[in-house]
Amino acid sequence: MTRTVLLCVAACGFAVLAGCATQQAAEKGEVRQYVETDTGRWLVHDVNRPAPPKVTPGKAPGDAVKLFAGTDPDLSEWTDTKGNASKWIVRDGYMEAVKGAGYIQTKRKFGSCQLHVEFATPSDVKDSGQGRGNSGVFLMGIYEVQVLDSYNNHTYPDGQCAALYGRNVPLVNACAKPGEWQSYDIIFHRPIFKDKDVVRKPTFTILHNGVLVHDHVVLQGGTGWRGKHAISDYEPHEDKGPISLQDHGNPVQYRNVWIRELAD
Ligand code: MG
Repeated sequence: MTRTVLLCVAACGFAVLAGCATQQAAEKGEVRQYVETDTGRWLVHDVNRPAPPKVTPGKAPGDAVKLFAGTDPDLSEWTDTKGNASKWIVRDGYMEAVKGAGYIQTKRKFGSCQLHVEFATPSDVKDSGQGRGNSGVFLMGIYEVQVLDSYNNHTYPDGQCAALYGRNVPLVNACAKPGEWQSYDIIFHRPIFKDKDVVRKPTFTILHNGVLVHDHVVLQGGTGWRGKHAISDYEPHEDKGPISLQDHGNPVQYRNVWIRELAD
């Protein structure tokens, strides 16, 4: 056996012995590792460390605010953008955009959040590009996650379904067929402003039909259509705003909309 091989064997043996010694020490409670957390300094595997609150899972988690459960007889959580009753249609457990009715928005306002939305673009396929099944989910009433029928329908990628409109192209096209129910699960952290400056830009993580399409993306500015806001920096706004859904002239349907507020 060469000298090198002998050295390797010795080193491995020492490592195994050291590992055994560490394990034995741990079993005797002699190795105490701590972690610093938001709730204090805790021993690793400490049973006294505060457990997270219990949430009942389901169609909507137990601690979610249900914005449209599908059983609502009316749009009690929603208005048009002027605060009046919306002309969107409610039927068969969903609400549907009506051409000319304008955007619909929540009465309540939200900042950082987890938002679940289910939607369906029209099964009666008409038009192409941006004219097919166009709508949108707006966080804080400002930042648009595009809704579009992008199933065999090419358009500019930063405006296809699940794009952060005009800014970020989704990682993949996870669109279902027209008329099929689809879902967005959006984890959003709002922008923070100090005076006129944005000191923390918003972030988006989005699953489209359970598929990751934005992985903690930092939004670099507004999401307007070739407008000043789209190519300029942020314009300061309040800490909370409504969730709004776009009327783009196509009868896009929505159901099971719920939200959980998150810490900034
Ligand atoms: Mg849109």
